[in-house]
Amino acid sequence: MEIDKKYLDPNFKDFIDDDKIWEQLNAAKNPEKSEIRAIFDKARSKVRLEPEETAKLLQIEDEDLLQEMFALARQIKEEVYGERIVFFAPLYVGNKCRNNCLYCGFRHDNKSIDRKTLTMDELGEEVEVLEKSGHKRLILVYGEDDNYDADFIAKTIKKVYATKVGRGEIRRVNINAAPLDVPGYKKLHEAGIGTFQIFQETYHHDTYRKLHPAGDRKGNYAWRLYGLDRAMEAGIDDLGIGALFGLYDWKFEVMGLLYHTIHFEKTFDGVGPHTISFPRIESALDVPFTLNPKYKVSDDDFKKLVAILRLSVPYTGMILTARESTKVREEVLPLGVSQVDAGSRIGIGGYAEYDRGLIPEKEQFQLGDMRSLDEAIRDVCKQGCIPSFCTADYRCGRTGSHFMSIAKKSLIHNFCIPNAIFTFKEYLLDYASPETKTAGEEVINKTIKKFDAAKQKIIKDKLQLISDGKRDIYI
Ligand code: SAM
Ligand code: SF4
Repeated sequence: MEIDKKYLDPNFKDFIDDDKIWEQLNAAKNPEKSEIRAIFDKARSKVRLEPEETAKLLQIEDEDLLQEMFALARQIKEEVYGERIVFFAPLYVGNKCRNNCLYCGFRHDNKSIDRKTLTMDELGEEVEVLEKSGHKRLILVYGEDDNYDADFIAKTIKKVYATKVGRGEIRRVNINAAPLDVPGYKKLHEAGIGTFQIFQETYHHDTYRKLHPAGDRKGNYAWRLYGLDRAMEAGIDDLGIGALFGLYDWKFEVMGLLYHTIHFEKTFDGVGPHTISFPRIESALDVPFTLNPKYKVSDDDFKKLVAILRLSVPYTGMILTARESTKVREEVLPLGVSQVDAGSRIGIGGYAEYDRGLIPEKEQFQLGDMRSLDEAIRDVCKQGCIPSFCTADYRCGRTGSHFMSIAKKSLIHNFCIPNAIFTFKEYLLDYASPETKTAGEEVINKTIKKFDAAKQKIIKDKLQLISDGKRDIYI
């Protein structure tokens, strides 16, 4: 795969203007309360904010305004997505890597980790363990290596869909891998990929250059920045963006994510990213950069950035990963998060090993939340949310522009909540511990009561079908 020549041109100008972002952030300092409240009013109507407005939110220091912002983030999340939280698991397929990203445990020169790529049989074993715990949605993760080309990734997607144990099956496979070219993405589209996810890591050009050696393929900022444009061109219209927080100033990165969103909307007829991820850097074995990064984001700032993203891009799914501790996850969840991973293991072959009682030491980074899926589900129920394993949007064609038109009109919960109830009921019947079953049934009953009588009847009829043994019911 060759990098497109235009991205090799030193004069190529992309849509991230570092100076302009800093000008906007500086101009937004010490905002008036009235200005901020006007922006809150706009956000309340669930319109995507402009960079100047987001910059002002990023500069809020006043405690009352911060509390108002957190409350508004909660409200927007509930109005757009309802109180449902989608669960998924990451599955690391291979950790060979040609690149030397300074912050990553998989970096090529890191001799302290064992390099491994799952065979198709081993991949099947991992998927079986995940299915037996109740997962229905996976994100497959790969280093960047010639062995992990589009044909290989497509083969792994097909293998995952084909692996079924008992009542288990994986119904949506998302991918986090190095950017591909258009023919490569087409192969993944044909294999039935859900979302393709690429994190820009940092939107700040100079920092990007410092952290990604020039000779590496990942050293080309623009090839990565436009990586999801190529996916769209190939027909993959659910795109996941993200920044690795802790590489550069967090306020700048939020602005970068917003500009990326605006770029998609302008280029693809209003279709923004399907999801935004905001991982924070974690320490990794023999990766000195991760020990005390200069731009490390505090828990307080982390909360702010999640709420500001929720207000700025109200219709986009937001993913909070198990990199974060259980405590942080509980605090941040209500501020706008719509998807979390749980029961995650990020060693290559980590699920099967863990199932056999082994805990791998040499991973890409350290996870903060090691709860099982069952525990995480129970805790989410206690927070008043309804866990979901729904994959209906993608399978009903509610992706890309169709998804956006629904999400932007806040109608997504008309589909999402009933589908959350159905898929959660399956989980409770097939996989949950007795304790989780009790907590879960309570949440289902409470959630059903929020619908009118006609809808309640439809939902209850379908729940009866599930209790009678039918599976994979959605609307
Ligand atoms: N190799 C592909 C790439 O770089 O795009 C995809 C897989 S990479 C393993 C997935 C993501 O892990 C990266 O995009 C990066 O944001 C994240 N990551 C790398 N090092 C990390 C660390 N020390 N802590 C937290 N996340 C990290
Ligand atoms: Fe390789 Fe991705 Fe890690 Fe960079 S972030 S070293 S490309 S696995």
